[in-house]
Amino acid sequence: MSQNPYRKAPQGHPIRMLPEWEHDPYHARRKWSEPTHCPDCGAIFQDGRWQRGAAPAAAEAHRCPACQRIQAHDPAGYLRLGGAFLAGHRQEIEQLVRHYVERQQAEHPLKRLIAINEQEDGAVELTFTDPHLTRGVGEALQSAYDGELDYHYQDGEYLLRVRWCRDA
Ligand SMILES: [Zn+2]
Repeated sequence: MSQNPYRKAPQGHPIRMLPEWEHDPYHARRKWSEPTHCPDCGAIFQDGRWQRGAAPAAAEAHRCPACQRIQAHDPAGYLRLGGAFLAGHRQEIEQLVRHYVERQQAEHPLKRLIAINEQEDGAVELTFTDPHLTRGVGEALQSAYDGELDYHYQDGEYLLRVRWCRDA
């Protein structure tokens, strides 16, 4: 018998126990000089972090960690949406997700929704560049629509899997 690796998140403070994540390996991989700009998304590395802004003429060009993840097809978060409620509310749910991501992204340009993938069983899988964003979207859905939220991660892995499900 294989054990369900997912833990149920109680309503209210759903996913409070997250691992002490080491830095994203895509961040640790290199030290960027300042300023650096990402040719794919235009984010600027300055003052020790990636942010929005106009690239100074002298900026070096290197792909930012989020764009590297997207390029490598290597999400840091998966959120699976399932249950009968989804089909009837697909548009508003997707809108809530996009608004949430946009608000986060305004402050943190590397927090992105990568893709929305339809699954054969009618579920929808969202992929993200950041585990904290994945958690936040899952919690936002539960707080807006109730439903069941559970999650799974492995120690030492910069990756969070979340599932949200509402049946009716
Ligand atoms: Zn980028």
